[in-house]
Order: sequence, then C-alpha cells, then structure tokens
Amino acid sequence: MLTEEVYLGIGSNIGDSRTIVEQALEALDRMSSCTLRGRSSLYRSAAVSDIPQDDYINAVARLDTELEPVALLLELQAIEHAYYRNREDGRRWAPRTLDLDIILFGNRSINDSHLIIPHPEFINRRFVLEPMLEIAGDIYIPGYGSLNYLVSQAPALDMEKLARISHQGPG
Ligand code: ADP
Ligand code: MG
Repeated sequence: MLTEEVYLGIGSNIGDSRTIVEQALEALDRMSSCTLRGRSSLYRSAAVSDIPQDDYINAVARLDTELEPVALLLELQAIEHAYYRNREDGRRWAPRTLDLDIILFGNRSINDSHLIIPHPEFINRRFVLEPMLEIAGDIYIPGYGSLNYLVSQAPALDMEKLARISHQGPG
C-alpha cells in the first residue's frame, strides 16, 4: 500500500490549549493507518484576526499515512469534534478549541471545494512554518522553495517556542 508523508498543523485557543494540543498529538498517534513520525515543540502565537481572542498554542506533526487525503480529513474532523470545537461561529478566524489542518500530503496538489493541498495559507503562517522547520529541517517544497526561504519571507508574528513542561521534581 502507498504510504505518504503528511505534515499537519495543530492549533487551539480556547480552554487548556496546551493539554488539548498534547492530547490531539496522542489522538493522531492512535489513528489507524497512520504512524506519528515527529512532532514539534509547542509554540504560542498571537491570533491573526480582527476578532479579539486569546493567543494560540500551535504545533506541527509529521505522519506517515496509508489513508487518502479526504479520508484523513474526515479522521481529523472527528478528532476536532471530540474536543467540542464550536463550529456554530462560522466567522473566519474565530477562536477554536482545536483546529487540525493538512499542510502537505506528500507532493500532491489538490484543489476541490472541501480540500486544498498544500494548505492555501501555509506560506503566510509563521506558526506553521517555524514548527515545520524545527522537525523537518530545511526541506525543499516543490513549487514553493526551501523552508528556510519561506520562513524568511513570512509575515512577522508575535510568537515564541515554549519550553517543554517538566513532570519531574517537586510540585
Ligand atoms: P481554517 O481555515 O481556519 O482551518 P476550518 O478549520 O473551519 O478553518 O476549515 C474549514 C474547512 O476547510 C474544512 O471544513 C475543510 O473542508 C476545509 N479545508 C480545505 N483545505 C483544507 C486542508 N488542507 N486542511 C484542513 N481543512 C481544509
Ligand atoms: Mg482547519
């Protein structure tokens, strides 16, 4: 069976977002026909929106999958729904409990009404590009260029890489 390498963007800005993103990574690891191959640190980023809202917690995951892109999207939406994502607020860039986006799916390019790959906004999103660079290194993305180049061109954003939470020691 054909295995493809996929990069996913993860974001949350409602609730205990650090825990939600960590749990989303665990859910991705449990998905059938998928193997979690890598994950970035967590990052904090200011929301890019006209709607006042909290900062986001972001991460990027790398998966190997035997699923077709639409099947993967449906699995991701099931995980989003498990976190009570509020889809009633249909405004773009509204706050959300959990957002899972397919950034790259192998070298495929898809353009249908429900799925666009590569993700149409990824080159503008430092909160995707920087975590990708952390786990993938300076890969070349056909049609776009190298990841270092894309990071250098991306709009500035108030964001920071977060230290891993230590579960050791007192307290
Ligand atoms: P956002 O663009 O902020 O991630 P949503 O998560 O609400 O917004 O996505 C809305 C729709 O975007 C989804 O229902 C899905 O069909 C569509 N979509 C198109 N391309 C992608 C992609 N590459 N990854 C995830 N969703 C996508
Ligand atoms: Mg989304």
